[in-house]
Amino acid sequence: MSRSISFPTSQTGHVTLAGAGPGDPDLLTLAVARALAEADVILHDRLVSAEVLALASPDALVIETGKAGFGPGIAQKDISALMVAFARAGRAVLRLKSGDAAIFGRLDEELDALDAAGIGFTVLPGITAASAAATALGQSLTARGRNSELRILTGHDVAGFAEADWQALARPGAVAAIYMGKRAARFVQGRLMMHGAAADTPVTLVENASRADQAIHAGTLATLPQTAACLSGPAVILLGLTPRQTARLPLSLPLEARS
Ligand code: SAH
Repeated sequence: MSRSISFPTSQTGHVTLAGAGPGDPDLLTLAVARALAEADVILHDRLVSAEVLALASPDALVIETGKAGFGPGIAQKDISALMVAFARAGRAVLRLKSGDAAIFGRLDEELDALDAAGIGFTVLPGITAASAAATALGQSLTARGRNSELRILTGHDVAGFAEADWQALARPGAVAAIYMGKRAARFVQGRLMMHGAAADTPVTLVENASRADQAIHAGTLATLPQTAACLSGPAVILLGLTPRQTARLPLSLPLEARS
């Protein structure tokens, strides 16, 4: 029996909302893999990888809703309307979001719409991009003696660049995973430096985490905007983290000696 939280109702129709992880299909949970194989209709965000979608039944109707976080796509109300309509028609509906549906995934808006329509739902968690990105670095997101706190923030939201507790983030040893941060890189750099963060604070960007084209861009707060400007794929900015190999080298070692 599944221990995920389900909210059945007396009415017909049910939707499974699931996190598809960062891209590598090996990082799906068994529950999500099963839901993929069993779904009649799959509504997925843009960042759900082709390799993951390949696990859908060949008979399934697969619809891309286009959204990547707060990016453009089918209007939220239309996505909700589609879920409700297919569920009412008795189809097994899977709403698939990248990473974990509960992190910058607008999950609540969709659950509210299902509630309003009297449609039951199940939510299945997924591996969020920050977990995959930290794994790529060989680093922990928390470490005894370094950071007992991890902040997850977005570079921007519907209202524009997003404010955060910059004072806390600027403290030495602070670790944060910044999602949707590419366009906000200069803003984030400015805010952190304004609050006293050192220019040489380690900042690593992990692009396409867990995918075949994964790339790690290690740098500092000083180089963040230039690095971010060069990226084309989805990326997580890991503030305060550096790849494990670099972390173990003496800080005085010249760059060219690090291999
Ligand atoms: N629910 C997702 C986040 C959606 S917001 C999750 O839990 O991971 C979209 C942002 O997620 C992107 O702008 C990027 O910052 C991040 N992201 C998603 N997939 C990624 C990947 N494979 N590699 C790096 N960052 C990724």
